[in-house]
Amino acid sequence: MKDNFATSDCFIVEGKLALPYTYFAGKVGSKFITTIRDQQKILGIKCKRCNKVFIPPRQTCALCQEDIRENWVELKNAGEVTNYTVVRYDDKHLPRKAPFILAMIKLEGADTPIVHLLERIDPEDVKIGLKVKPVFAKETTNTILDIDHFEPIVRISR
Ligand SMILES: [Zn+2]
Repeated sequence: MKDNFATSDCFIVEGKLALPYTYFAGKVGSKFITTIRDQQKILGIKCKRCNKVFIPPRQTCALCQEDIRENWVELKNAGEVTNYTVVRYDDKHLPRKAPFILAMIKLEGADTPIVHLLERIDPEDVKIGLKVKPVFAKETTNTILDIDHFEPIVRISR
């Protein structure tokens, strides 16, 4: 017998929905993405009261709720790995074929990390604190993948 929970009272039909959608990234999110696309620069937003720089940028400070939407700061195109994981399964919604590395990367000048792809390094060679730089995409997708990936600044030899 098939292993499911269907009973005469509760027959469960499995299915899938395709759900294309669009949404407005917001004024702050739009500037963040279009600046990466058009200028190959990564922007954060600073709360002057808390002296913290947030990325991805946000309209209000995560700590004090102050409106910070105009306080843009340009971050360095360099940072370090603060954590990472290796994705070892394939899924059509994932940006790469497995295995690939997703890293939390704190850019110079930012107080919060962003999650992005880390390439040009084997998973067993990744270390916390590894210095990395963004590599921008040659063709835009109008998404965060206009940063194609991050890679080590210094070539890693084993
Ligand atoms: Zn604040």
